[in-house]
Amino acid sequence: MDTTIIRCRRCGKKNRIALKNIDSKLNCGHCRERLTILDSPLNIGELHFEKEVLQETGLVGVIFSADT
Ligand SMILES: [Zn+2]
Repeated sequence: MDTTIIRCRRCGKKNRIALKNIDSKLNCGHCRERLTILDSPLNIGELHFEKEVLQETGLVGVIFSADT
């Protein structure tokens, strides 16, 4: 069965989700928060870079930009 990992935005725990259920309403198995799949980029700053990018075990696409 093909699966993916969705990290809960509330508690940070990772939830393994079967791709066949990806369109269903999904809740975190740890805190029951509704899991959301981002359909647009998440803007993060230096403060959250380590957690959101470096500690992520899945694929992460990153676009860097800076104020001029
Ligand atoms: Zn959670």
